[in-house]
Amino acid sequence: MSFTTRFAPSPTGPLHLGHAFSAMLAHDMAQAKGGAFLLRIEDIDQSRARPEWEQQIYDDLAWLGLNWAEPVMRQSDRLQTYRDTIDQMWWDKFLYACHCNRRDIAAAAAAPQEGAPLLGPDGVIYPGTCRNANAERDHYPEPPPPDAALRLDIASVPHDLTEGGVLSFKETGIDTDEVTFTRADLIREVGDIVLSRRDMGTSYHLSVVLDDAAQGITHVVRGADLFEATKIHVLLQQLLNLPVPVYHHHRLIRDDAGKRLAKRDDARAIAKFREDGYTPADIRQMVGL
Ligand code: GLU
Repeated sequence: MSFTTRFAPSPTGPLHLGHAFSAMLAHDMAQAKGGAFLLRIEDIDQSRARPEWEQQIYDDLAWLGLNWAEPVMRQSDRLQTYRDTIDQMWWDKFLYACHCNRRDIAAAAAAPQEGAPLLGPDGVIYPGTCRNANAERDHYPEPPPPDAALRLDIASVPHDLTEGGVLSFKETGIDTDEVTFTRADLIREVGDIVLSRRDMGTSYHLSVVLDDAAQGITHVVRGADLFEATKIHVLLQQLLNLPVPVYHHHRLIRDDAGKRLAKRDDARAIAKFREDGYTPADIRQMVGL
C-alpha cells in the first residue's frame, strides 16, 4: 500500500516542540515506508494567519532536516473549492443556518432541564435551537444567508452510508485497532457542528477533509487531541464520497507541569532552541524520537 502523509500547521504562531514531534514523526514514517511527506499551510483563519509565521514554518522545518514535495498546499488558495462544497451540501439539505452566538448556545445547553452542558470535540454540544427553527428546510428557497454559520444536521445524513449505519476508521497510533461508531453516537457526543463559519465560509473540519483527499493523503499523522474530531472527519468523508485514510494519532508533548504545549509557549519554540545553540538531534532527543 502506498504511503502519503502530511504536516498541516496553522501559521498563527511559532512552531514548538509538539509541532516538531508531529512533523518529524510523519516524515520518519514516510521515509520508512518509501512514501511521501507533504506540507499544508492551514491559513483559513485570515484574522490570525501571518506571512512571517508561514515563513518561519518553512525555516524551522528545513532546519529540522525535513524536506517536502512542492508545491505546498495553502488553504487560502482553496476557498472556492470549500464554498462550492458548502453550496452543494446546502442545496442537498444537509445544512441549516444558525444565528446563535456562544452565549445563546451556552445558555440553551445549560437550561435547567438539560443538566450540565455536554462537551464534544468542538466545545459545548449544540442544543439544536436553529435546527428546530428551520424544520421546514424542504422549502429552502434561497442560497445560504451570508451572515449565518451553517451547521451539519447530522440526523439528516443517510443512515445507510455504510453497512448498518456503522462508521469506522483504522487507527495505528494511540490505539491500534479499527475504531467504530454510529451516527447516533455522533448526534449524542458531537452534535451539529459548524461546517461554514460566518467569518470564513468554511471550517477546520470541512477544509481538512477536502484537503486530505485532494492531496491524496493515505495516512494522517497528528496529535491525540484530534482523535475525537476524526469521527466528524470520517462522517464527512462518507457524505462527500471521499476515501478514509488510516489515522495515526500520537502522544502529546507536555510541559514540565504536564500541560499540553500551546502556541503561546514561546519558551519551547523551535526558533528559540535554535537560537540557543541546540541541534536538530537535541530536539529529536527531547521529544523522544
Ligand atoms: N492545523 C491543525 C493544527 O495546527 C492540524 C490539523 C490536522 O493535522 O488535521 O493543529
